[in-house]
Amino acid sequence: MTVPNVTLNNGVTMPQLGYGVFQIPNEDTTQAVKAALETGYRGIDTAAIYGNEEGVGRAVAESDLNREDLFITSKLWVDSFDYDDALRAFDDSLAKLGTDYLDLYLIHWPVPTQGKYPEAWRALEHLYAEGRVRAVGVSNFQPEHLARLASDSDLVPAVNQVELHPTFANTAVEEANTASGIFTEAWGPLGQGAIFTNPYLADIAAQVGRSVAQVVIRWHMQQGRIVIPKTVNPKRMEENFTVFDFELTDDHMTAINALDTGVRGGADPETFEGK
Ligand code: NAD
Repeated sequence: MTVPNVTLNNGVTMPQLGYGVFQIPNEDTTQAVKAALETGYRGIDTAAIYGNEEGVGRAVAESDLNREDLFITSKLWVDSFDYDDALRAFDDSLAKLGTDYLDLYLIHWPVPTQGKYPEAWRALEHLYAEGRVRAVGVSNFQPEHLARLASDSDLVPAVNQVELHPTFANTAVEEANTASGIFTEAWGPLGQGAIFTNPYLADIAAQVGRSVAQVVIRWHMQQGRIVIPKTVNPKRMEENFTVFDFELTDDHMTAINALDTGVRGGADPETFEGK
């Protein structure tokens, strides 16, 4: 099975379905990423704050795949938004990952109360201009944070990675992304586990003869989003990857869209300070 690629606003292609490693301890990450690569995942989503970039790097080093066959994303943590700190943090991520470039580097959270994300963006612009990262983007940015970047930078983020799942559709952010040519990447795409008790999703899954996870991943993909579900269980990795041989009908899509409650599971980007 091959994952379709999306083409980002700078022409770089990225697998639409990737593998996230949030909350996987560093010592377990190598095994998990190896299993994901064996399943066929080529996009890996990590972050400095996850503390498992070394584990990802080891899996990459021990795999038979070429570096250019992989798409590795990492993220700049909020304590390193001063220009020089951001450059150092990037070097640190590369060293831990054992690579000399990233495919995508994101500002992890805007922390508007700190007011430094435009400075961090200048550091990412520099790294991009140097060719050390193939695409740069943001995460958890609200429309006003995107507008702030656009007011003093010509470089449009390639991606905005935000919380998005059936009960939190994050519509205003996705619309702002689309209007600016920014790809929406869904984090917590399975509601961080919360979708599995939803009876409406269970009903649709029964109708199409698939699991709830497959239905929800398919729902994301049919809307053109990048999606990065996480599991350490190889059987579930395979299950989450087997989403290219069926389609949801318009009625199913509408029914899932109707589950939006507007309630986040995670932190609010307006107030989150990284603690
Ligand atoms: P998720 O929505 O991917 O859900 C993960 C949970 O679902 C886990 O408990 C897992 O065991 C369970 N699960 C996965 N597949 C399953 C299946 N087939 N059947 C039953 N249970 C299954 O949540 P997440 O890990 O928070 O999000 C995915 C990725 O998004 C993360 O790993 C990380 O890379 C990224 N992320 C980014 C941010 C950010 O601020 N940018 C925040 C959170 C997560």
